[in-house]
Amino acid sequence: MDITFIGSGAMGGLFGYFLARSGQNVFLMDIWEDHVSAINSQGLGVEFDGKINRMDIPASSDMNDIRKSDLVIIFVKSTQTEQAAVQALKYLKDEGLVLTLQNGMGNADKISQVVHPDKVIAGTTSHGATILGPGLIRHAGAGPTLIGMWSEKNNTELATVKNVFCNAGIDTRIEDNIHLIIWKKLIINVGINAITALTGIKNGKIMDSPPTGELVRMVVKEACDVALAHGMKLPDDIVDQVFTIATATGLNRSSMGQDVDHKRLTEIDAINGAIVSLAQKKGMRVPANQTLTALVQTLQTNYKEGEK
Ligand code: NAD
Repeated sequence: MDITFIGSGAMGGLFGYFLARSGQNVFLMDIWEDHVSAINSQGLGVEFDGKINRMDIPASSDMNDIRKSDLVIIFVKSTQTEQAAVQALKYLKDEGLVLTLQNGMGNADKISQVVHPDKVIAGTTSHGATILGPGLIRHAGAGPTLIGMWSEKNNTELATVKNVFCNAGIDTRIEDNIHLIIWKKLIINVGINAITALTGIKNGKIMDSPPTGELVRMVVKEACDVALAHGMKLPDDIVDQVFTIATATGLNRSSMGQDVDHKRLTEIDAINGAIVSLAQKKGMRVPANQTLTALVQTLQTNYKEGEK
Protein backbone atom coordinates (compact mmCIF):
# COMPACT_ATOMS: atom_id res chain seq x y z
CA MET A 1 0.00 0.00 0.00
CA ASP A 2 1.26 3.52 -0.82
CA ILE A 3 0.98 5.52 2.40
CA THR A 4 1.84 9.21 2.91
CA PHE A 5 2.03 10.91 6.28
CA ILE A 6 1.22 14.61 6.54
CA GLY A 7 2.98 15.45 9.80
CA SER A 8 5.78 13.02 10.60
CA GLY A 9 6.71 14.12 14.10
CA ALA A 10 6.40 11.87 17.15
CA MET A 11 3.27 9.93 16.10
CA GLY A 12 3.56 10.21 12.31
CA GLY A 13 7.16 9.04 12.59
CA LEU A 14 6.24 6.15 14.89
CA PHE A 15 3.40 4.87 12.71
CA GLY A 16 5.49 5.48 9.57
CA TYR A 17 8.27 3.38 11.08
CA PHE A 18 5.93 0.49 11.96
CA LEU A 19 4.31 0.49 8.51
CA ALA A 20 7.60 0.82 6.57
CA ARG A 21 9.15 -1.98 8.65
CA SER A 22 6.27 -4.26 7.62
CA GLY A 23 6.98 -3.61 3.93
CA GLN A 24 4.49 -0.84 3.12
CA ASN A 25 5.57 1.95 0.77
CA VAL A 26 5.73 4.87 3.22
CA PHE A 27 6.46 8.52 2.43
CA LEU A 28 6.92 11.06 5.25
CA MET A 29 5.92 14.71 4.70
CA ASP A 30 6.79 17.32 7.28
CA ILE A 31 7.42 21.06 7.20
CA TRP A 32 10.26 20.70 9.77
CA GLU A 33 13.24 20.76 7.43
CA ASP A 34 15.95 19.68 9.93
CA HIS A 35 13.88 16.61 10.81
CA VAL A 36 13.36 15.70 7.14
CA SER A 37 17.09 16.13 6.34
CA ALA A 38 18.06 13.97 9.33
CA ILE A 39 15.62 11.22 8.23
CA ASN A 40 16.94 11.31 4.65
CA SER A 41 20.60 11.26 5.71
CA GLN A 42 20.60 8.79 8.66
CA GLY A 43 17.21 7.08 8.46
CA LEU A 44 14.41 7.60 10.97
CA GLY A 45 15.52 6.55 14.45
CA VAL A 46 12.98 5.16 16.90
CA GLU A 47 13.98 4.38 20.48
CA PHE A 48 12.28 1.34 22.01
CA ASP A 49 13.19 0.55 25.64
CA GLY A 50 16.41 2.56 25.37
CA LYS A 51 17.57 0.95 22.10
CA ILE A 52 17.51 2.95 18.86
CA ASN A 53 16.39 1.24 15.64
CA ARG A 54 16.86 3.03 12.33
CA MET A 55 14.96 2.63 9.08
CA ASP A 56 15.39 4.33 5.72
CA ILE A 57 12.10 5.99 4.83
CA PRO A 58 11.86 8.70 2.14
CA ALA A 59 10.90 12.07 3.60
CA SER A 60 10.25 15.52 2.16
CA SER A 61 9.26 19.02 3.17
CA ASP A 62 8.50 20.03 -0.41
CA MET A 63 4.72 20.03 -0.67
CA ASN A 64 5.00 19.75 -4.47
CA ASP A 65 6.81 16.41 -4.08
CA ILE A 66 3.57 14.49 -4.67
CA ARG A 67 3.38 10.67 -4.43
CA LYS A 68 -0.17 9.50 -5.06
CA SER A 69 -1.28 7.33 -2.15
CA ASP A 70 -3.92 4.76 -1.20
CA LEU A 71 -3.88 6.11 2.33
CA VAL A 72 -2.91 9.55 3.64
CA ILE A 73 -2.46 9.74 7.40
CA ILE A 74 -2.74 13.18 8.99
CA PHE A 75 -0.64 13.42 12.15
CA VAL A 76 -0.16 17.18 12.58
CA LYS A 77 -1.36 18.92 15.76
CA SER A 78 -5.03 19.90 15.61
CA THR A 79 -4.05 23.55 15.08
CA GLN A 80 -2.69 22.58 11.63
CA THR A 81 -5.46 20.24 10.46
CA GLU A 82 -7.00 22.52 7.80
CA GLN A 83 -3.67 23.02 6.00
CA ALA A 84 -2.85 19.32 6.28
CA ALA A 85 -6.24 18.38 4.78
CA VAL A 86 -5.56 20.56 1.75
CA GLN A 87 -2.20 18.81 1.31
CA ALA A 88 -3.76 15.39 1.86
CA LEU A 89 -6.15 15.93 -1.03
CA LYS A 90 -3.20 16.41 -3.41
CA TYR A 91 -1.71 13.06 -2.38
CA LEU A 92 -4.87 10.96 -2.64
CA LYS A 93 -5.38 8.43 -5.40
CA ASP A 94 -8.95 8.41 -6.80
CA GLU A 95 -10.05 5.64 -4.42
CA GLY A 96 -7.68 6.71 -1.64
CA LEU A 97 -8.64 7.29 2.00
CA VAL A 98 -7.53 9.80 4.63
CA LEU A 99 -7.02 8.73 8.25
CA THR A 100 -6.80 10.94 11.33
CA LEU A 101 -5.80 9.60 14.75
CA GLN A 102 -5.22 13.09 16.16
CA ASN A 103 -6.46 14.14 19.57
CA GLY A 104 -9.27 16.59 20.09
CA MET A 105 -12.66 17.24 18.54
CA GLY A 106 -13.14 18.66 15.06
CA ASN A 107 -10.28 17.14 13.08
CA ALA A 108 -12.37 14.70 11.02
CA ASP A 109 -14.98 17.40 10.34
CA LYS A 110 -12.30 19.81 9.12
CA ILE A 111 -10.82 17.10 6.86
CA SER A 112 -14.32 16.25 5.58
CA GLN A 113 -14.73 19.84 4.41
CA VAL A 114 -11.78 19.32 2.03
CA VAL A 115 -11.82 15.58 1.27
CA HIS A 116 -15.09 13.78 0.44
CA PRO A 117 -16.56 12.75 3.84
CA ASP A 118 -16.98 9.12 2.70
CA LYS A 119 -13.18 8.91 2.31
CA VAL A 120 -12.40 9.95 5.88
CA ILE A 121 -11.42 7.40 8.53
CA ALA A 122 -11.20 8.69 12.08
CA GLY A 123 -9.96 7.08 15.24
CA THR A 124 -7.85 7.11 18.34
CA THR A 125 -4.65 5.45 19.38
CA SER A 126 -3.21 4.59 22.76
CA HIS A 127 0.32 4.48 21.40
CA GLY A 128 2.49 7.29 22.70
CA ALA A 129 5.63 8.90 21.29
CA THR A 130 7.93 11.83 21.94
CA ILE A 131 10.31 13.73 19.66
CA LEU A 132 13.89 13.55 20.98
CA GLY A 133 15.40 15.68 18.21
CA PRO A 134 15.55 15.86 14.40
CA GLY A 135 15.16 12.36 12.96
CA LEU A 136 14.79 10.72 16.37
CA ILE A 137 11.68 9.73 18.30
CA ARG A 138 10.95 7.66 21.38
CA HIS A 139 8.16 5.10 21.60
CA ALA A 140 6.56 6.03 24.92
CA GLY A 141 3.90 3.33 25.22
CA ALA A 142 1.66 0.93 23.31
CA GLY A 143 -2.08 0.35 23.26
CA PRO A 144 -4.96 -0.29 20.90
CA THR A 145 -5.81 1.80 17.85
CA LEU A 146 -9.54 2.14 17.07
CA ILE A 147 -10.79 3.21 13.63
CA GLY A 148 -14.08 3.74 11.80
CA MET A 149 -15.57 5.57 8.83
CA TRP A 150 -16.41 9.13 9.90
CA SER A 151 -19.50 9.32 7.68
CA GLU A 152 -20.53 5.89 8.98
CA LYS A 153 -20.93 4.79 5.35
CA ASN A 154 -19.40 1.34 4.86
CA ASN A 155 -16.16 1.19 2.91
CA THR A 156 -14.66 -2.24 2.30
CA GLU A 157 -11.18 -0.69 2.26
CA LEU A 158 -11.49 0.01 6.00
CA ALA A 159 -10.80 -3.68 6.67
CA THR A 160 -7.77 -3.50 4.37
CA VAL A 161 -6.39 -0.59 6.40
CA LYS A 162 -7.01 -2.51 9.63
CA ASN A 163 -5.18 -5.56 8.26
CA VAL A 164 -2.24 -3.48 7.03
CA PHE A 165 -1.96 -1.90 10.49
CA CYS A 166 -2.26 -5.25 12.32
CA ASN A 167 0.39 -6.77 10.04
CA ALA A 168 2.64 -3.86 11.02
CA GLY A 169 2.22 -4.74 14.70
CA ILE A 170 -0.27 -1.92 15.36
CA ASP A 171 -3.12 -3.60 17.29
CA THR A 172 -6.10 -2.10 15.40
CA ARG A 173 -9.86 -2.65 15.74
CA ILE A 174 -12.78 -1.39 13.69
CA GLU A 175 -15.44 0.45 15.71
CA ASP A 176 -19.01 0.96 14.49
CA ASN A 177 -19.50 4.14 16.51
CA ILE A 178 -16.21 5.96 16.08
CA HIS A 179 -17.86 9.25 17.13
CA LEU A 180 -18.38 7.85 20.64
CA ILE A 181 -14.78 6.57 20.76
CA ILE A 182 -13.48 10.02 19.87
CA TRP A 183 -15.72 11.61 22.52
CA LYS A 184 -14.32 9.17 25.13
CA LYS A 185 -10.73 10.08 24.24
CA LEU A 186 -11.69 13.76 24.27
CA ILE A 187 -13.11 13.44 27.79
CA ILE A 188 -9.87 11.83 29.00
CA ASN A 189 -7.89 14.72 27.52
CA VAL A 190 -10.38 17.27 28.91
CA GLY A 191 -9.84 15.84 32.41
CA ILE A 192 -6.06 15.60 32.34
CA ASN A 193 -4.39 17.91 29.83
CA ALA A 194 -5.18 21.52 30.74
CA ILE A 195 -4.92 20.92 34.51
CA THR A 196 -1.50 19.28 34.21
CA ALA A 197 -0.35 21.88 31.66
CA LEU A 198 -1.26 24.79 33.92
CA THR A 199 0.12 23.35 37.14
CA GLY A 200 3.28 21.62 35.90
CA ILE A 201 2.32 18.31 37.51
CA LYS A 202 2.62 14.83 36.02
CA ASN A 203 -0.56 12.92 35.11
CA GLY A 204 -0.50 10.73 38.21
CA LYS A 205 -0.67 13.76 40.53
CA ILE A 206 -4.17 14.87 39.52
CA MET A 207 -5.77 12.72 42.21
CA ASP A 208 -3.18 13.36 44.93
CA SER A 209 -4.96 16.39 46.32
CA PRO A 210 -8.74 16.58 46.80
CA PRO A 211 -9.15 20.02 45.16
CA THR A 212 -7.39 18.83 41.97
CA GLY A 213 -9.50 15.68 41.86
CA GLU A 214 -12.65 17.77 42.35
CA LEU A 215 -11.65 20.06 39.46
CA VAL A 216 -11.17 17.00 37.22
CA ARG A 217 -14.67 15.82 38.17
CA MET A 218 -16.13 19.25 37.38
CA VAL A 219 -14.61 19.57 33.90
CA VAL A 220 -15.48 15.97 33.03
CA LYS A 221 -19.09 16.38 34.27
CA GLU A 222 -19.51 19.55 32.18
CA ALA A 223 -18.07 17.79 29.12
CA CYS A 224 -20.38 14.78 29.58
CA ASP A 225 -23.42 17.08 29.84
CA VAL A 226 -22.38 18.78 26.59
CA ALA A 227 -21.84 15.40 24.93
CA LEU A 228 -25.34 14.33 25.98
CA ALA A 229 -26.82 17.55 24.60
CA HIS A 230 -25.19 16.58 21.29
CA GLY A 231 -26.68 13.07 21.45
CA MET A 232 -23.65 11.26 22.86
CA LYS A 233 -24.06 9.28 26.11
CA LEU A 234 -20.73 8.67 27.81
CA PRO A 235 -20.32 5.72 30.21
CA ASP A 236 -21.36 6.42 33.82
CA ASP A 237 -17.87 5.50 35.05
CA ILE A 238 -16.05 7.91 32.71
CA VAL A 239 -14.52 9.90 35.61
CA ASP A 240 -13.08 6.66 37.00
CA GLN A 241 -11.68 5.94 33.52
CA VAL A 242 -9.96 9.35 33.53
CA PHE A 243 -8.35 8.57 36.90
CA THR A 244 -7.37 5.06 35.75
CA ILE A 245 -5.59 6.46 32.68
CA ALA A 246 -3.96 9.21 34.74
CA THR A 247 -2.62 6.51 37.06
CA ALA A 248 -1.45 4.27 34.21
CA THR A 249 0.43 7.23 32.67
CA GLY A 250 1.29 8.61 36.09
CA LEU A 251 4.93 9.49 35.43
CA ASN A 252 4.22 11.22 32.09
CA ARG A 253 3.61 14.89 31.39
CA SER A 254 0.50 15.19 29.23
CA SER A 255 1.04 16.31 25.63
CA MET A 256 -0.38 19.72 26.52
CA GLY A 257 1.96 19.86 29.49
CA GLN A 258 4.90 19.15 27.18
CA ASP A 259 3.69 21.80 24.74
CA VAL A 260 3.55 24.41 27.53
CA ASP A 261 6.95 23.29 28.88
CA HIS A 262 8.44 23.87 25.39
CA LYS A 263 6.44 27.06 24.78
CA ARG A 264 4.60 25.52 21.82
CA LEU A 265 1.05 26.25 20.73
CA THR A 266 -1.23 23.73 22.49
CA GLU A 267 -4.31 21.82 21.31
CA ILE A 268 -6.50 23.59 23.91
CA ASP A 269 -8.99 24.84 21.27
CA ALA A 270 -9.73 21.25 20.18
CA ILE A 271 -9.95 19.90 23.75
CA ASN A 272 -11.44 22.02 26.60
CA GLY A 273 -12.06 24.78 24.03
CA ALA A 274 -14.15 22.38 21.96
CA ILE A 275 -16.36 21.74 25.00
CA VAL A 276 -16.85 25.50 25.36
CA SER A 277 -17.79 25.91 21.65
CA LEU A 278 -20.12 22.89 21.67
CA ALA A 279 -21.75 24.14 24.90
CA GLN A 280 -22.36 27.56 23.36
CA LYS A 281 -24.18 25.93 20.42
CA LYS A 282 -26.67 24.47 22.92
CA GLY A 283 -26.89 27.58 25.10
CA MET A 284 -25.11 25.79 27.96
CA ARG A 285 -22.58 27.18 30.44
CA VAL A 286 -19.35 25.29 31.20
CA PRO A 287 -17.47 27.63 33.58
CA ALA A 288 -14.74 25.18 34.58
CA ASN A 289 -13.82 24.35 30.98
CA GLN A 290 -14.12 28.00 29.99
CA THR A 291 -11.71 29.02 32.76
CA LEU A 292 -9.14 26.34 31.90
CA THR A 293 -9.37 27.24 28.20
CA ALA A 294 -8.89 30.94 28.88
CA LEU A 295 -5.91 30.26 31.19
CA VAL A 296 -4.11 28.03 28.69
CA GLN A 297 -4.84 30.50 25.87
CA THR A 298 -3.46 33.30 28.06
CA LEU A 299 -0.35 31.27 28.85
CA GLN A 300 0.40 30.38 25.24
CA THR A 301 -0.15 33.89 23.89
CA ASN A 302 2.33 35.21 26.43
CA TYR A 303 5.21 32.81 25.93
CA LYS A 304 8.44 34.75 26.10
CA GLU A 305 11.93 33.34 25.52
CA GLY A 306 12.16 30.42 23.10
CA GLU A 307 8.66 30.90 21.68
CA LYS A 308 7.87 28.62 18.72
P1 NAD B 1 4.41 16.46 16.83
O1 NAD B 1 4.47 17.93 17.09
O2 NAD B 1 5.50 15.59 17.33
O3 NAD B 1 4.31 16.20 15.24
C1 NAD B 1 3.55 17.02 14.39
C2 NAD B 1 4.40 17.26 13.15
O4 NAD B 1 3.59 17.94 12.18
C3 NAD B 1 5.61 18.18 13.40
O5 NAD B 1 6.80 17.49 13.05
C4 NAD B 1 5.36 19.39 12.50
O6 NAD B 1 6.56 19.90 11.92
C5 NAD B 1 4.46 18.80 11.43
N1 NAD B 1 3.61 19.77 10.72
C6 NAD B 1 2.99 20.87 11.20
N2 NAD B 1 2.27 21.46 10.22
C7 NAD B 1 2.43 20.70 9.10
C8 NAD B 1 1.94 20.77 7.78
N3 NAD B 1 1.12 21.75 7.41
N4 NAD B 1 2.32 19.82 6.90
C9 NAD B 1 3.17 18.82 7.25
N5 NAD B 1 3.68 18.70 8.51
C10 NAD B 1 3.31 19.63 9.42
O7 NAD B 1 2.97 15.98 17.35
P2 NAD B 1 2.54 14.50 17.78
O8 NAD B 1 2.87 14.30 19.20
O9 NAD B 1 3.02 13.55 16.76
O10 NAD B 1 0.96 14.64 17.71
C11 NAD B 1 0.23 14.61 16.49
C12 NAD B 1 -1.24 14.39 16.84
O11 NAD B 1 -1.39 13.10 17.46
C13 NAD B 1 -1.81 15.39 17.84
O12 NAD B 1 -3.18 15.64 17.57
C14 NAD B 1 -1.68 14.67 19.17
O13 NAD B 1 -2.59 15.11 20.15
C15 NAD B 1 -2.00 13.25 18.72
N6 NAD B 1 -1.49 12.19 19.60
C16 NAD B 1 -0.23 12.29 20.13
C17 NAD B 1 0.24 11.26 20.94
C18 NAD B 1 1.64 11.28 21.50
O14 NAD B 1 1.96 10.45 22.35
N7 NAD B 1 2.53 12.15 21.02
C19 NAD B 1 -0.59 10.17 21.23
C20 NAD B 1 -1.87 10.10 20.66
C21 NAD B 1 -2.30 11.13 19.85
